[in-house]
Amino acid sequence: MFGRNLDINRRSFFRSAAVPALCVVVGCREAEAAASLSRREAQFYEKLPNKKIRCTLCPRGCVIDDRERGYCGVRENRDGTYYTLVHSRPCSVHIDPVEKKPLFHFYPGTLAFSLATAGCNVNCKFCQNWEISQVRPEQVRNAEMSPDQVATLARDNRCVSIAYTYSEPVVFYEYVYDTALAGNALGIKSVVITNGYIQQEPLKKLCAQVEGIKVDLKAFSDKFYREVVNGELKPVLESLVTIHRQKTWLEIVYLVIPTLNDSDQEFRGLCQWMRRELGLDVPVHFTSFHPQYLLKNLPPTPLATLERAKRIADAEGLNYVYIGNVPGHPAESTYCPRCKEVVIQRTGFRVEKMNLKKGSCAQCGTAIAGRWKS
Ligand code: SF4
Repeated sequence: MFGRNLDINRRSFFRSAAVPALCVVVGCREAEAAASLSRREAQFYEKLPNKKIRCTLCPRGCVIDDRERGYCGVRENRDGTYYTLVHSRPCSVHIDPVEKKPLFHFYPGTLAFSLATAGCNVNCKFCQNWEISQVRPEQVRNAEMSPDQVATLARDNRCVSIAYTYSEPVVFYEYVYDTALAGNALGIKSVVITNGYIQQEPLKKLCAQVEGIKVDLKAFSDKFYREVVNGELKPVLESLVTIHRQKTWLEIVYLVIPTLNDSDQEFRGLCQWMRRELGLDVPVHFTSFHPQYLLKNLPPTPLATLERAKRIADAEGLNYVYIGNVPGHPAESTYCPRCKEVVIQRTGFRVEKMNLKKGSCAQCGTAIAGRWKS
C-alpha cells in the first residue's frame, strides 16, 4: 500500500515505499537509468574561468571543474553550466502525520505528503537515512514526479502540506522551490525539514514560498559540527535567525547524543541564545538518539538526560519545550504557557485531544504560537 500506514517506522518505510511499487500506485514513471539522468540548470552559482563554477547555494561553496560534481553529489558542472540532477526525481515518497517531522505547532493532526531525493551537503555520523542521503542519484531508484504531480497527489490524498524531508532539501532546492509554487497554486502548504546549512540569499527566497521550516540543530558547538557533522555551526544559527525574521514558522529539533552534545552548559547556551535571538515562542524538541550508521558505539539517550535538557530550557523561560522519541511522555503534549492547561495532547505521532479555539488556549484565551487550521 502506498503511504497510508501511519504506524510504519522510518526504516521499514524505505523498504515499503520502493520506487517501482510507488510508480504503479501513483501512476508516475520510474526515472531513467543513471547515465541519462535528466538535467535542469541550477540556481545560485557563479561562472569562473576555464569552465569552472562556484556553487553559492550552501556555505560549503564548492568550486567545481567541468564534468565534476559538488560535495552533495547531485549537482554537476557541464561545460561551465551548473545543473541539478534530481529535479522531479524523488527516491522516497510517503504520507506522514506532520507530527512525525516532528512539527507540533504546524496544522496538528494533519497529513504531510513527504518526499526526498538522494544527496546531502553534510555527513552526520549519526544519520538515520544515510542510504539515501550519502549516495548519488545513480545509487537509488528514482521516480519521475513533477512539481504539479506532487501538488495534485498531495491534494488528492487530503494532505494539508508537502514536506521536503528524509535527506537534505537544500541540495534539491530547485525541486523544493518549484513544488512549493505548484502547491501554493492548489492551496497546499510547504514545509521544509532541513539542517539549515544554506546561504542567506536562497534561504530568503525559499522563505517567501514555504510556510514552515524545521531545522535539525545538531549541537550548540562548532567542534561538534566540524568533527561529527562535517559542517559549521555559525551559518546554521544565522539561518535560524533569518527564518524567524522572515516570519516563516520555525521549530528546532536537537538530537541529544550521549557524551557528544549533552552537557548542561551546551543545553543552557542553546536556550539562552534562543531566548535572545528568537524569543520564547519557538518550539524546541529534545529527541532521543538511537545508535546507527557510524555511531553504533554509543548508547541510546537516557530519559534522564532528555528531562534534564527540558528542565534547563524551562528554567530559561522557553514556552514550548518537548521531549521526542519517548512515546507517552507528558512532554509530548503542548501546554498553555499562561494557565498550564494541556492545549494539544499527543501520544507518539497521534493527536489525542485539542483544546484550542482559533489558535488560543480554550481555557484562558492565551494565543498559542503556531500555524493552525481556521
Ligand atoms: S549545495 Fe552541494 S555543490 Fe553546492 S556548495 Fe553545497 S555541497 Fe557544494
